[in-house]
Amino acid sequence: MSTEQVRDWCNGDAQVVIKPVIDLDAHHHTEAYVVPDRLVEQTRLTHPACAFPWCERPARRCDTDHVVAHGAGGPTCSCNLTPLCRRHHRAKTHTAWTYDKTDAASYLWRSPHGLHLVKDRGSTRLLTAHPPDA
Ligand SMILES: [Zn+2]
Ligand SMILES: [Zn+2]
Repeated sequence: MSTEQVRDWCNGDAQVVIKPVIDLDAHHHTEAYVVPDRLVEQTRLTHPACAFPWCERPARRCDTDHVVAHGAGGPTCSCNLTPLCRRHHRAKTHTAWTYDKTDAASYLWRSPHGLHLVKDRGSTRLLTAHPPDA
């Protein structure tokens, strides 16, 4: 894109927000618990929706979750962050739902009743047909 083009936009009424290009494959890391904007943005671009089984809430309207909790040693970095919508973020935090990231775009979830589910690149499948007896 040419400088003239950008200048034209800026001279008009349009509101122009220029953001740095984010390298989706780069590994970003910070010691802080709070996820910096750059990592939030990268997480949203690489994971288009909530990571919870069957949930399709767009990542833009999700929280950014530490897959391995920060308090349990999980880093604030590209490979340990994923979008979870508020409802499923709560389910993970306050109920017995747990999950692991099994690769860059797939997750293994365990329900409070022992069901195992895989969400892989947006599609969910059940691994266990029936919940085991308690
Ligand atoms: Zn990492
Ligand atoms: Zn969700």
